[in-house]
Amino acid sequence: MKLFFSLLAAFLAGSNASPSVLPRQSSVRLAVSPNCGTLAGAPASVNAGLKDLSSFDTIVAFGDSYTSGGVADGSALAPADIVPPNPSAGGRISNGKLWVENLANVAGATLHDYAINGSVIDAMEFQMSSPLRQQKDFLGQVNSYLSSRTRPVNPDTTLFVVFVGTRDYENREDLTFQNFSLTTGAISYAIADLTFSSGVKNFLFVDNYGRGEKTSDGEAYKQALFDALKDAKAQMGISFAFADLYPIWNGVLGSNPGYEAFGFTSPGACIVDQSLNDACDDPDHTFYWISEYPSASTHSIMAEYVEKVITQFRKAGYQAIDRICDYYYELQQSKFPVVSQVEPGYLRPLLPSAAPDAGEDFQQIADDYQKYIVPGYTHWQHPSFFGYFPTGFSFEGLLGDLYSSSVSNPGFNWAASPSCTELESIVLDWAAQMFGLSPAFLNSSGTGGSCIQNTASDSALVAIIAARSTYTAQFPDAKLEDLVIYTTTQTHSLGVKSAMVLGLSTRALEVKREDKFSLRGDTLRTALEEDRKKGKKPFILIATVGTTSSGAVDNLAEIKEVVLDYPELKIHVDAAWAGLSLVCPEYRDKFYLNEINEIADSYSTNFHKMGLVNFDTSPLWVRNRKYLTDALDVNPPFLRTAAGDAGTTIEYRNWHIGLGRRYRSVKLWFVLRGYGVEGFQKYIRKLVSLRERFVEHVSSSDLLQLVAPPSLALAVFRIEPKQPNEALPEESLNNLNRLFYGRISARKEVLLTQTVLDGSFCIRFSVGSPRTQEEHVDKAFEILTHEARLAIESWKQDAAPSLD
Ligand code: PLP
Repeated sequence: MKLFFSLLAAFLAGSNASPSVLPRQSSVRLAVSPNCGTLAGAPASVNAGLKDLSSFDTIVAFGDSYTSGGVADGSALAPADIVPPNPSAGGRISNGKLWVENLANVAGATLHDYAINGSVIDAMEFQMSSPLRQQKDFLGQVNSYLSSRTRPVNPDTTLFVVFVGTRDYENREDLTFQNFSLTTGAISYAIADLTFSSGVKNFLFVDNYGRGEKTSDGEAYKQALFDALKDAKAQMGISFAFADLYPIWNGVLGSNPGYEAFGFTSPGACIVDQSLNDACDDPDHTFYWISEYPSASTHSIMAEYVEKVITQFRKAGYQAIDRICDYYYELQQSKFPVVSQVEPGYLRPLLPSAAPDAGEDFQQIADDYQKYIVPGYTHWQHPSFFGYFPTGFSFEGLLGDLYSSSVSNPGFNWAASPSCTELESIVLDWAAQMFGLSPAFLNSSGTGGSCIQNTASDSALVAIIAARSTYTAQFPDAKLEDLVIYTTTQTHSLGVKSAMVLGLSTRALEVKREDKFSLRGDTLRTALEEDRKKGKKPFILIATVGTTSSGAVDNLAEIKEVVLDYPELKIHVDAAWAGLSLVCPEYRDKFYLNEINEIADSYSTNFHKMGLVNFDTSPLWVRNRKYLTDALDVNPPFLRTAAGDAGTTIEYRNWHIGLGRRYRSVKLWFVLRGYGVEGFQKYIRKLVSLRERFVEHVSSSDLLQLVAPPSLALAVFRIEPKQPNEALPEESLNNLNRLFYGRISARKEVLLTQTVLDGSFCIRFSVGSPRTQEEHVDKAFEILTHEARLAIESWKQDAAPSLD
């Protein structure tokens, strides 16, 4: 308070001294945003089902207000007399429109005013000696409204607005019983009366208790009010919004962000003593008009704030969905190329060099996203995206992600959010069954189980950590420098990366072209024997079902025979991409489902590849959950819970590296339900048929040839011109294909990626977008043929004239 008066004095002194040099000010702006909460949580601004403001043609105001004089009968206020020093303008204790008038303006609605300054909820609750006992209260206002002959009749287009808080709370000492339930009971009664008698079920409650100063009983009052509204919603079916004005008062009177951020020149009042008719020189930039009564500028930002509570998130949300739908429509029409056209570093000059001091308008942010960020995307969901392994997408997944994000829940313990843990354990059991995984891997087995990791790389890292921990527990004398991770020359870089992270060595076992780049049992056995002799300790093999470069599959049937003799060797099966095909029975033998079920200690696949789930969802299944928890269980006191200690719940924090974890099961649940097993099967078969179409084109081409057998939705090919006399040397072919790939990469309307197989430079064609149709495959092949011809021509001229 002291600070308040000294600021006020400073302001008045300053303005008296040199009124003419006041800087020109832009208008006051809302420098805070409502923290939109949920009904489930503590009281917070929330829109619980209230329609857009524009759908109301009538607003009826009840409760406290900033008016004085003969209102509270539903009539409009007299026009504002805003000529200072008149402190009370047209019945308002402000120098212009009140917030509710501004709100009615925004809505385009007629305002019927029953609210009155200093009103309480129920005057009868106050002691006889209290002046408030004589006050026209909210219940009285409701009576006036309901007995008015002229009251509006359309329940759908009428909004009841109730401003509560400040006065009720400040005068609590005068209450007969300081019991919030009486007050909230009166509110419930008034809501019931209004709803029953008028049929109107639309309510907006605006709360401003404490004016920026929180106290524990004030918070309890707010909680009771909020709970009463939730009950009224549940019991009487009302739609309501609750706007908590605390951020404005706290924002101006405190330092976050402080009054200047709003454009106020003072957090104080323009008129200090109503009876003195004094006034400041800059009434448009003071927070209060009269002490504790907001100025017209403040009323205007109050209305904006309330409007944001009701509409901002919805509007912005609908707009975002509209824009996403438009984006997909345009993708489908190939209205823009797959590959981004921007140059490296394009973004920095377009964005400010630091975050804004004050929060910015949401619409502006959304527009800037379209303008600056979207152009820098490579469109992984484009129908002509044939690079890498495409990422999954479905609208079910997108909406699941939205719901997940709406609760922003780190779900590390069962107790941290039971549904996060339980849903994950259930949907992963669904997935395991859909792939035909052994019941041993199910969470319901109580022994095995699964959890969603960030990526297949994380799954491999976690599996290696678990295997290392098991090995060192079994062989305590083993030195870490002797431990070896087995991969193959075709294993994804996740093997080497994990080894780097853990400071361990890898040995990449050789796979051969004639074996279709598959790891054979003999190769494994020989390596194990060699290493055993050298005192090395191979402790885990990363086997792959569907390698990145060619979709090759390690021969798990042969590997199974070998590991019978090396039981200490753990097997992690990385089926990041191909694993989804196990949903189709016809692929189960080819991809060694039986052997996975028999020998894999851990198994990983990515729903975010061929699994229709938006990045990221990468489950890891283990045969024995202790495998993970023995290696990763840390139990500091602050993470202990009764359920965890009892061992009756899954504590997923002990199944992966981080503590908090993204809540991904909800999107997986949406997608699994949205498509069903048959939907997944159909999708995989469609991808394979598109790849088959591409292979038919290649087979009929006199320029292009496959380099490896096609696998699922992947084909690997290169230029191999038919030479009349002799085959080209490998190095020449590689140069030619590098040139070819350079040309393809320059084409922005199609995207393919390169690889090297057994020394041969080649190009991958990988189908994966749900939007890809035959025409896109045909078009891609047309582009490839065209570029192949040009590549051969220029290569003949520049590089190999002698070969002509
Ligand atoms: N394993 C294989 C066989 C892959 O093809 C890939 C990526 O394409 C990965 C692992 C890596 O996947 P993630 O990005 O989920 O780590």
